[in-house]
Amino acid sequence: MSEQTPELYQKRIHIHPRSVKGRFRNLKTGILALAYIVFFLLPWLRWDRPNAPDQAVLYDLPGRHFYIFGLTIQVQDIFWLAGVLIIFAILLFFVTGLAGRVWCGYFCFQTLWTDLYMMVEQWIQGDRPARMRLDKSSWNREKLMKRGGTYAAWLFIAFWSGLTFTMYWVDAPTLVVDFLLGRAPYAAYFTTLFLTTTTFVMAGLAREQVCTYMCPYARFQSAMFDHDTLIISYDPKRGEGTKGRAKLGKGLKTYEERQKAGVGDCIDCGYCVQVCPVGIDIRDGLQYQCISCALCIDACDIIMDNQKWPRGLISYTSEHALQGHKTTLLKPKTFGYGVILTAATGLLIWSIVTRSPYTGTVEQIRQPLYTQMSDGSIRNTYEIKLNNKLTAPMTVGIRIQGLPGAVLDMDGMDHIDLAPQQRIKLLARVQIPPIQEDHEGKEDHEEKEDHEGKNDRDEVTFIIEALAGTTAEPIRREVPFYVPEGD
Ligand code: SF4
Ligand code: SF4
Repeated sequence: MSEQTPELYQKRIHIHPRSVKGRFRNLKTGILALAYIVFFLLPWLRWDRPNAPDQAVLYDLPGRHFYIFGLTIQVQDIFWLAGVLIIFAILLFFVTGLAGRVWCGYFCFQTLWTDLYMMVEQWIQGDRPARMRLDKSSWNREKLMKRGGTYAAWLFIAFWSGLTFTMYWVDAPTLVVDFLLGRAPYAAYFTTLFLTTTTFVMAGLAREQVCTYMCPYARFQSAMFDHDTLIISYDPKRGEGTKGRAKLGKGLKTYEERQKAGVGDCIDCGYCVQVCPVGIDIRDGLQYQCISCALCIDACDIIMDNQKWPRGLISYTSEHALQGHKTTLLKPKTFGYGVILTAATGLLIWSIVTRSPYTGTVEQIRQPLYTQMSDGSIRNTYEIKLNNKLTAPMTVGIRIQGLPGAVLDMDGMDHIDLAPQQRIKLLARVQIPPIQEDHEGKEDHEEKEDHEGKNDRDEVTFIIEALAGTTAEPIRREVPFYVPEGD
């Protein structure tokens, strides 16, 4: 008995998907057009923002600010980004559990760019039969022109995609001019080159191999599936009948003839296989390579329409429906995902809407813990950090409370003017008068502690409030105030 060594490398079979018209193709084209309009035009959209860049969406890394229309996000608000990522992850689980790989089929960048590349290829080289002919032909002038033209168009799309991505990090009009004049930052050239190369290779050359072999999502999505998840499936009962599928032929042309002969509705035309961008045959059952693009549904619907037979030989269905059971979409799991998703989104929106236009922190400087002045008064020093998050100037006032007789000294300042998005540090000194001792040698504050159960000199509250430029709740910071021990 000969032992066969399993093949670890599978040679790629080049796929030439055929074009198809239909409702899912239209939906995909609509999503593709919308996605490209947003991606390519957004960096060029201006936004009136005083004292800050006027690009509507800009991730200004050197300035450590993210501008998204009217929202300015600083690095300390980066937890919002974590919130957005968590919401996307829950959304992916929610949608995949309900509708399967809709992300892969309609929204994934790999799908969008591969789709565009295929459209360009078809526009220059023709539909599937013409491309297959060209593939087999020897290198002549026509092949050179068509292949060269396709590669040039792909390269341009890849370059403009890479440059557009870079535009989200630098002012777009300035970047384009600087890029072409050779004076843009090295990072801009590197990012654009990297993305040009990866876009060209992934969407132009690797295509379905990315989904089949590289993407981890394709591998773990089955964990999110259940028997009610929408899948794209061929109806074998209807398609195969009792005698299997059969091509249209003598005595097998009409519905009645086929029914009588026991053959199914699949006329074995192969159109569903020819349009598949990953090159699989949906009639072989659910396969991990299937990206749920639904183009095979469009293809089969065309065939069924031509035959004047009911549509739906290939359709969105579920495993339960295929087994003759009812599909239940609203289940506790779906409901749970929905509740978590709504709560997480609501929390994020609430956090953004109620954000303070400025921040202020106060820290006691502990070296030394306190200073006893020559007249017996005691002084503590604090570092105050203020951050104006607005793109407009503002004025804040700082006062203290909770420490009787205490005086705040900020080098004579009674208010602080903050420039747009300015962060500053300043020193503040809080001084209390000398501590008086009574006849029994007890300090005043100790008596107060005995009588009221608290020590007034243990802490002081700084109140930082907006005086001009914005309105917001004052910020209150309680910090310790130290006095000599046993003094
Ligand atoms: S089998 Fe159908 S849904 Fe799946 S990738 Fe191919 S064409 Fe798209
Ligand atoms: S397109 Fe429909 S009829 Fe044609 S082979 Fe596919 S399943 Fe059968």
